[in-house]
Amino acid sequence: MGFTERQWRVNNLKEERKLIVATNNKGKLQEFAKLLQPLNVKVYSLKDFPQIGEIEENGRTFIENALIKAKTVHQITGMVSLADDSGLEVDYLKGLPGVYSARFAGEPKDDKANNGKLIAMLEGVPLEKRTARFKCAIAIVDKDGKEYFAEGSCEGLILEEEIGEGGFGYDPLFYLPQYKKTFAQLDMETKNRVSHRGKATEKAMGILRKIFL
Ligand code: IMP
Repeated sequence: MGFTERQWRVNNLKEERKLIVATNNKGKLQEFAKLLQPLNVKVYSLKDFPQIGEIEENGRTFIENALIKAKTVHQITGMVSLADDSGLEVDYLKGLPGVYSARFAGEPKDDKANNGKLIAMLEGVPLEKRTARFKCAIAIVDKDGKEYFAEGSCEGLILEEEIGEGGFGYDPLFYLPQYKKTFAQLDMETKNRVSHRGKATEKAMGILRKIFL
């Protein structure tokens, strides 16, 4: 039995409204799924495509790494693909840990060890010279392979010791003078509003709204 034209259009539209987020990280996926809800698209992740495996992030910048991931996933799935990459740049360390943020203290990835290494490398450096920023880059590849980018950053200072229990990664060391708090002391809503990832995602939503118009 053939489809009526309306049924065909509805099915076709359903087929089109799919997006894959190039991550295996459950927390990150949940965050993105929530942010992407207004788009009314079905959100997939790398967990749905185990054949893709580990994607090597050997770029020199956050944008390069995000694009490597989004392109790889698009090539394999043919879907609209979104990937992000983020990290911390410390001015006194000429931008380190940068793209090495996750594994700054080596394998396996260890937030406590990373923070310990950063504290040690900045020993004796006065507060005014401990300027830093978190950066987040998002790359989107649409169904036709067209590439789009969104970036966000958040400025702060690196403390001499960890303060606060929330968040993850370098959050307890990252101090926002305007809030007189570290990222680890901010509630999630406030962090999401001011953070590098929040800002980049807001811009990415503008791009995705056009793609899924
Ligand atoms: P990725 O974007 O998931 O690869 O994150 C890279 C690394 O940057 C993380 O493992 C953290 O060490 C660090 N990082 C990125 N964003 C944040 C943040 O919001 N707070 C603390 N650390 C972060």
